[in-house]
Amino acid sequence: MSNTAEEGELCIYSGHSLGRFSSHSMRYDSHQACVRCVSSAREGMLSFDIDRLMKKYRNKALKFWSQVDIGQPDECWMWNGVVNPRTKQPQFAWRRPGISTSTQHHPQRVAMWFTWGDLGFTGVKTTCGEKYCCNPFHLIPQHVGVFVDQDSYVDSFELACELHTLRQQVQEYVIEEAIKEEQKNDDTAEIEARAALLLDPNTQYVDRFEAVMTDILAGKHISQTEPSNPGLFRAPTDNEENDENPTEEF
Ligand SMILES: [Zn+2]
Ligand SMILES: [Zn+2]
Repeated sequence: MSNTAEEGELCIYSGHSLGRFSSHSMRYDSHQACVRCVSSAREGMLSFDIDRLMKKYRNKALKFWSQVDIGQPDECWMWNGVVNPRTKQPQFAWRRPGISTSTQHHPQRVAMWFTWGDLGFTGVKTTCGEKYCCNPFHLIPQHVGVFVDQDSYVDSFELACELHTLRQQVQEYVIEEAIKEEQKNDDTAEIEARAALLLDPNTQYVDRFEAVMTDILAGKHISQTEPSNPGLFRAPTDNEENDENPTEEF
């Protein structure tokens, strides 16, 4: 790795900016690895603590880990997320302007970012040879002089605690996401039933009146709400790029 560093994109870890109000971090110009992250990786530091990340990346981390079978430190943790149907490469969607023009990253690299540090485009190798394994204990960042002492990780009490916390946080995240999804479906069903009633030419005036009044009194009339998924009242959707899964085939 080249030793020249310059002002680059802000690191995903908090406290790694150039100054308190700076929105840049020092990065090595060869692989865009954050200088601070490289020095902690060189000391063999690895962490599962998502609170070390800047706030806006914590959900991203949970989303990522919710797609990995997090096992024991000495097991392979397989990727459960998107696999590109054409190339069969596992991938995780993340826009990282300044780091990469690609919007999809190999989950092993993402796992490295969330544990070893924001090492940019530093290569990452597995000790197990599994293409889908995202266990950071099996991932070695290349060319940054990382020294890996497998045994000390497996025996580390601190890492065991962090891992335990991460598992809990991922579980909570998965439940929250499921509730959000259910809420969305509920709203849609109710709104669509209402629309069917109101749009039906056979509906009596008194029924329409009652439906509208009931909704207004409950604060649920379409004019009072901004439902996240407003059924038949939705505006036409833009066919914008599908961020989550741009390679999905129609
Ligand atoms: Zn950093
Ligand atoms: Zn493995």
